Amino acid sequence: MEEKKNGSLREFKAESKRLLEMMINSIYTHKEIFLRELISNASDAMDKLYFRSMEENLGLTRSDMQITIALDKDARTLTISDNGIGMTKDELENNLGTIAQSGSFAFKNENEKADDVDIIGQFGVGFYSAFMVAKRVTVISKAYGSDKAYMWQSDGAEGYSVEDAEKEDCGTVITLEIKNNADEENYDEFLTPYKIKELVRKYSDYIRYPIKMDVEHEKLKEGTGVDGKEAEYEKEIVTETLNSMVPIWKKAKSELKDEDYNQFYKDKFYDYNDPLVHIHTKVEGNATYSALLYIPEKAPFDYYSKNFEKGLQLYSSGVMIMEKCADLLPDYFSFVKGLVDSEDLSLNISREMLQHDRQLKIIAKSIEKSIKNELKKLMKNSREKYEKFFETFGAQIKYGIYESYGMNKSELQELLLFKTSNGGTTSFEEYVSRMKEDQKYIYFASGSSVSRIESLPQTEQVRDKGYEILYLTDSVDEFCLQMMHDFNGKEFKSVSADDLGIDTPEVKEEIKKAEEDSKALFDFMTEKLGGKVKAVKLSQRLKSHPVCITSEGMLSVEMEKVLSAMPNGEGAKAEKILEINPNHAIFAKLKELYESDKDKAADYAEILYNQALLIEGMPIENPVEFSNKICEIMAK
Ligand code: ADP
Repeated sequence: MEEKKNGSLREFKAESKRLLEMMINSIYTHKEIFLRELISNASDAMDKLYFRSMEENLGLTRSDMQITIALDKDARTLTISDNGIGMTKDELENNLGTIAQSGSFAFKNENEKADDVDIIGQFGVGFYSAFMVAKRVTVISKAYGSDKAYMWQSDGAEGYSVEDAEKEDCGTVITLEIKNNADEENYDEFLTPYKIKELVRKYSDYIRYPIKMDVEHEKLKEGTGVDGKEAEYEKEIVTETLNSMVPIWKKAKSELKDEDYNQFYKDKFYDYNDPLVHIHTKVEGNATYSALLYIPEKAPFDYYSKNFEKGLQLYSSGVMIMEKCADLLPDYFSFVKGLVDSEDLSLNISREMLQHDRQLKIIAKSIEKSIKNELKKLMKNSREKYEKFFETFGAQIKYGIYESYGMNKSELQELLLFKTSNGGTTSFEEYVSRMKEDQKYIYFASGSSVSRIESLPQTEQVRDKGYEILYLTDSVDEFCLQMMHDFNGKEFKSVSADDLGIDTPEVKEEIKKAEEDSKALFDFMTEKLGGKVKAVKLSQRLKSHPVCITSEGMLSVEMEKVLSAMPNGEGAKAEKILEINPNHAIFAKLKELYESDKDKAADYAEILYNQALLIEGMPIENPVEFSNKICEIMAK
């Protein structure tokens, strides 16, 4: 093993080297985030010391802690100091010598081709970002409780060195030697107070410790500029606090613009895009909390993978106590990002205790309600936005209903949207408001696309009646409706259902009689189809098409398709019914063949069945035999 001597150059681990290269070559606009990263590290270090002080009764208070930024234009240095917990020699080595823990790098490895720049924009890259603007970084640190200080130094290229150093108090001082200006890159900016102030306000305004900087001002020299005397100015150094220290969610809504909310979202939740909506609420009463919630425009890259973890950040009086509190969000709203800050929660609450915390449950319920209300508002007032939202996350809501066996129905049914024969999309409420006077059911048809559904023979009769049909194009749709059963008492009815509730009793009687007349033929066909269909029937719903397939029981043909596409789903079979249009010439032909040529009647049954499958978008068992049989008939 390599001996660790003071001062000698250590090489960076391979993956750190690669990240460094990536960062140094990243586009300029990303470089400025280095300041945010270093300030946030300093703030974390002070949090750690503060927690330690609470645990061990050290008597430190937050007001003792601060971050200081100093600029030296001539030496080209920017220095960030904190009086936080500091680092031991080992910590300097381990924490600043590798970056492998950071999730961003694992992601980069899996997506070798992903644009390097994206990674830097989307994830915090921590301490290493300093090398985007610095040609050399020096860290002097003294860990709390230690009497020794160390200096870590690196020019970012090959490696780093660690040696003994002098430092009075615990904490860390990071000095960046800022790069010289290059063709299109102006690094001098980072040495100007104006730019630093701007960056702190933009990225670190809510940091709860003061970020201080000595700023030079010109001031009128006393006794000049009055009584006709010429004005003279002198320089004065003023220590300014650059951040407001008020977290954005504690600010009044009237103080905040959409851009502020969006910027905070992008910084905090590593998204490149503005969110679709933000929800900023302050609630007092049963539970007291403020929440800042966001609905992303796009699903995170891992949203539909097992790795995705839902949750909101949890703060207690402005101090973060948990990065991802899953209990604050139901699964069907797992796409929501954001944070909750409540005075009702204790700072030192453990994860296990939190799970049973009554207060937290009340907050979670209340948050769920705000999300739902916001979505309803969006549906009503910004339909296009809502449709976009629903396209991205609607499936999650439908799963929410399905997975809970319909238990979440009343919470979620008003949020659902479906494509419709009316064109565009509709909610249940809108559909019901358009229902015809004599219409009993909410009709739906399933298929892989709108055009496919529109050409389904089964829709003919319902369409003829002028009833609207919901188009279920998502695989979960029909399962979801089955769990729901009805909307405010209006039952759902598949256009393939046995009784569509359209025919008058007289018509029904007529059909029944016709069916009895053809019973022998239908029994014969059912038998010849050898268990592939449960029955052959006269169709009430077909107007011009010869045949179609419908089903009986819980499982529809469309559901069979979905299930058989899933692992272990092959066994799922719908109870199929072959329906024949009594007014179509083929029906007369079948009757005739049944009397004159039974073999041919059996062939016709087979062909018609396969045709019905094809119309439905189902595979046929033996395509070769099917086409041969058709050719035989054609050749005659
Ligand atoms: P991250 O902050 O995501 O863990 P960084 O690369 O920013 O990654 O920092 C690595 C580690 O170095 C931190 O987790 C922390 O332990 C340590 N560190 C960085 N800056 C400081 C600091 N100012 N004071 C004390 N420890 C620090």
